[in-house]
Amino acid sequence: MSAGSAVTIDVDGVGHYHAIHGLPAPRGDDPIWRAGVPRVLELCAAQGVRATLFIVTADLSHAHARALVRRAHDDGHEIASHSHAHRYDLSTLAPALIEEDLRRSIEAIVELTGERPRGFRAPGYTLSPALVDAIARLGFAYDSSVMEAPMYWVARALARAGLRARGRASASQLGDPRQFLPGYAPPGLVELPISGALGWPWLGTTLTMLPLPVGALSTALARASARANPVVLELHAIDLCDHTDGFDAALVRAQPDVAVPLARKRRRLEAAIASLSRGCRPLAEWAERP
Ligand SMILES: [Zn+2]
Repeated sequence: MSAGSAVTIDVDGVGHYHAIHGLPAPRGDDPIWRAGVPRVLELCAAQGVRATLFIVTADLSHAHARALVRRAHDDGHEIASHSHAHRYDLSTLAPALIEEDLRRSIEAIVELTGERPRGFRAPGYTLSPALVDAIARLGFAYDSSVMEAPMYWVARALARAGLRARGRASASQLGDPRQFLPGYAPPGLVELPISGALGWPWLGTTLTMLPLPVGALSTALARASARANPVVLELHAIDLCDHTDGFDAALVRAQPDVAVPLARKRRRLEAAIASLSRGCRPLAEWAERP
């Protein structure tokens, strides 16, 4: 039996998607912050769900982002850290540089909300012993970077190889495959993993891209497989954007889920969240279970 549930949203700005696909940096304002984040907050409010938002705190230099994150905090959502700069190679940096990034992230969230973030999710879900050590040492109550989804690791390896074959380089790291096996927990940390189903992560893109019965099946399997941990749905703010929101054409080609119409995405995500909403709490509250 699952212990409960949580909806998590990684608020990755559009520049990070350009970096994954080896595209030049985007110009103009960020459609994810302009359109995606307000829609995420509206969806959660309509479903009566308090979620966990993983914020890349470098984005808080923009007044619009600050206002939205403050509003999310006031609405009762948990504001957690998705690092300061969302460097995909964060886990490979020298310990002092890792610590500096995490400290900046903590300070930015304290400054905006008055509260220390309790949770951390690594950029690209990539942990290393040095990063795990820094997360624990800086006093986070939990980490949520592990994914019970070995097929995600395989898909990422194939995507990186495909880009290399076309002469482009992805900023994403391949990472340690053990981190994608069910039951893996980094030593010394409370880990609240992202749920998986049949080897794939329970992601917004699974729900919105695949045929409806597959999405519904993934919801059922993710719920069944969560066992002692809460069932954790992993969304991104880009999940509530589509190609009409002003993305570069090159990104829409590289990231096919952007082309899925917003209305369909909203319907699918509403259904998945509605299946959870009883017993759905921010991750920080699950981390505090005795
Ligand atoms: Zn991210």
